[in-house]
Amino acid sequence: MFDLTSADLLDAFTRELRLCKLVPGEHVVVLAEPGSRGDYVAAFGAAKTCGAHVIAATVPGGSPAPMPSTHTGAGPGLTSVLEDRAAQALLKSADLVVDLTREGFIHAPVQQEILRGGTRIIFVCDAPDVLIRNLPKESDKDEVLKGVELLASARTMRVGSAAGTDLEVRLQGSKPEFQCGFADDPGRWDHWPSTMVLCWPEVSDGRIVLAPGDILLPFKEYVRDPVTLTVAGGHITDVSGGAEAHLLATFFEDADDAWARSLSHMGWGLMRTADWFATAMYGKGDLMGMDARAFAGNFLWSTGPHPVLGRESYAHLDIAMRGCTVSVDGADVVVSGRLAA
Ligand code: FE
Repeated sequence: MFDLTSADLLDAFTRELRLCKLVPGEHVVVLAEPGSRGDYVAAFGAAKTCGAHVIAATVPGGSPAPMPSTHTGAGPGLTSVLEDRAAQALLKSADLVVDLTREGFIHAPVQQEILRGGTRIIFVCDAPDVLIRNLPKESDKDEVLKGVELLASARTMRVGSAAGTDLEVRLQGSKPEFQCGFADDPGRWDHWPSTMVLCWPEVSDGRIVLAPGDILLPFKEYVRDPVTLTVAGGHITDVSGGAEAHLLATFFEDADDAWARSLSHMGWGLMRTADWFATAMYGKGDLMGMDARAFAGNFLWSTGPHPVLGRESYAHLDIAMRGCTVSVDGADVVVSGRLAA
């Protein structure tokens, strides 16, 4: 029989590329590595459907990160691209790169270099039905931009929870950003699927208490025993609790990384189609975990790399929490884990 899985994705990829404002005559490079999903070759057909020129480029796999580099969100990039000026030149020459590598280049400086030339990049690596369920809408961008505006003019973000979280975040210089699931502006990187507001603060103080059911990424595991993390000046100074506290403390120790215990981006999700249980329902290799990261009304915070402060690090955790209240200069944006009206 025919293999129809990529045909099934053609419509979704075509809609996605149209959201990326792909127009006839533009140049698309579909970037993959040997381990990329075969059915995502639908991106190639979608680019043709949009009337674009398209090249499929497959480069060798392998990453400089000291952990299995598949769907972690650390995004250090593929060594084969980081070390190959010809590959970089091809990507820079494109109007749109569809990045189907298993890890992307999220935290790789070379990605910034490519974007500076005006190339837009859309990164795709979640399971097909996760992509389809969370296909973005054009209006998602307006919504996240409101959150960015709010953060940009504010001084303080506070995060609290019934579990005991009480964190104060200084927003000055925190470079608010968004993800909306499509890359439509020149020089724009985005991630399908995603709808979130985030910033890169330097200083935060207080306590983060993970509750059972919160999600630890890249491990793609749910917290079972509460974890208390003490935060001072933007760094984690103490971790206590049960099994997951021990796991996190061991990760920080093993990372042997100057920034492992330092906080990185933080913000909240707005993706209303996200499914908190996706993490439980898929194999780890099938999932990046954007359902958890962008879940509407979550509080997402992270550790390790911090491009605004020039901190390069491979020790990147993303931790997605339910049930938090997030306020920005006193205005609630998330109340007990639900988006404020
Ligand atoms: Fe992250």
